[in-house]
Amino acid sequence: MPTLEDVKQSDLQAAADYVNKVYKAVEQRNPHEAEFLQAVKEIFDSLTPVLAKHPEYIKHNILERIAEPERMITFRVPWVDDQGCVQVNRGFRVQFNSAIGPYKGGLRFHPSVNASITKFLGFEQIFKNSLTGQPIGGGKGGSDFDPKGKSDGEVMRFTQSFMTELCKYIGPDQDVPAGDIGVGAREIGYLFGQYKKIKGGYEAGVLTGKSPGFGGSLIRTEATGYGTVYFMQELLKDNGLTFEGSTVVVSGSGNVAIYAMEKAAELGASVVACSDSNGYIYDENGISLGTLKRLKEVERHRLSEYVKEHPQAQYVEGGSGIWSIPCDIALPCATQNEIDETAANILVRNGVKAVGEGANMPSTLEAIEVFRSNQILFGPAKAANAGGVSVSALEMAQNSARLSWPAEEVDAKLHDIMINIYRDSMTAAEKYGQPGDLVTGANIAGFLKVADAMVSQGVI
Ligand code: NDP
Repeated sequence: MPTLEDVKQSDLQAAADYVNKVYKAVEQRNPHEAEFLQAVKEIFDSLTPVLAKHPEYIKHNILERIAEPERMITFRVPWVDDQGCVQVNRGFRVQFNSAIGPYKGGLRFHPSVNASITKFLGFEQIFKNSLTGQPIGGGKGGSDFDPKGKSDGEVMRFTQSFMTELCKYIGPDQDVPAGDIGVGAREIGYLFGQYKKIKGGYEAGVLTGKSPGFGGSLIRTEATGYGTVYFMQELLKDNGLTFEGSTVVVSGSGNVAIYAMEKAAELGASVVACSDSNGYIYDENGISLGTLKRLKEVERHRLSEYVKEHPQAQYVEGGSGIWSIPCDIALPCATQNEIDETAANILVRNGVKAVGEGANMPSTLEAIEVFRSNQILFGPAKAANAGGVSVSALEMAQNSARLSWPAEEVDAKLHDIMINIYRDSMTAAEKYGQPGDLVTGANIAGFLKVADAMVSQGVI
């Protein structure tokens, strides 16, 4: 294997030209898909040294192939609301890449879901899933349905209609969805029930994130948040820092946020703030996780209710203000592009030392540049939030073996996987001339395995 120094300037130029040419073609083909193009640009920008060293990827035109989904399914989801009126939503599933395993990726129910959001998430998922070291390809899906304010009956009827169409395209060896924003244990339960009814068989491995009572894995609920903290723990350790005694700000108050907060607090951090899409709470004594979990997971209340029980805490309208709270470690765990250049500069000015992305693509490209140029330790989403899909793959393994592993065993496996992802990303960054740059390292490490599989499998 040649080192980067052995790569000729002319090969680097040829690789850069190829990257630019393909990116332009992707732009032309998807002109209105800003989020998708952002995700493609972030990956492509990392790959020039890889392509210079491996011209076979250019010969096989891997970039143009990898940026085009194998399949994109769009469908109508009609359902009846509590007033007896027929409502219509749009459903999506992108089956992006199956080079290293069946398509795998969550379902998002949120009014903002469209083709661009679905494709950016599916594209990211290819490289994230590869990084986990598990045999899973990349996919993603969802709907513009908003579960907020809907009754259980409405959510069930919508979800059943969604699965009635989706079930034609998924299966334990074909495509295995899971949860994401707006899709938690309740929705996965309804989706699984409908799939089972239509298929007439118990294919437990068709969905992950199931309740442990019917084939779900222990620790899946906690996995993404815990995994983000395990990943950041390694990065902090290598730089002489720790969660213990640190002040942490977490955005969001959903699945990823709650368990990132729980693990950070367990490691001795003081978690002082979290948010929802309406506002944020700040409690300088540390957020009470007991109250937060009950309000969000059991009672499905808005975050503003928290201050009624904890009057010493403050509730502030408007979610983005959360980044003005001084902290040592920021964990964005809500949604894409929630940290822009301005928010990144405020975090830096207030002394942030590390940023770990629990959400998918929460930092804009400009924000990442601010962190990079200020030497802020940065854990990119693809690597830092891969714990959720890792435990989903462990759930698939348990379903295939018809076994369930104890929580301690799954947690230990998750911890090992996150350490490996960290090390593999650091090694790739170093090998390709960007030591310490985890954005580049994670992109390259995730890309190599998929690209090699695509070359081996021919033009398909
Ligand atoms: P949840 O639905 O459980 O929670 C999402 C949280 O983010 C809620 O507090 C929500 O507030 C807030 N939020 C959503 N949209 C916005 C917005 N536009 N502005 C401000 N806040 C917003 O989702 P998850 O915790 O599962 O997912 C959070 C992020 O983590 C997403 O980016 C997801 O793709 C990513 N992720 C999730 C994984 C998982 O295993 N669940 C795995 C890997 C990544 P509100 O209630 O007001 O909408």
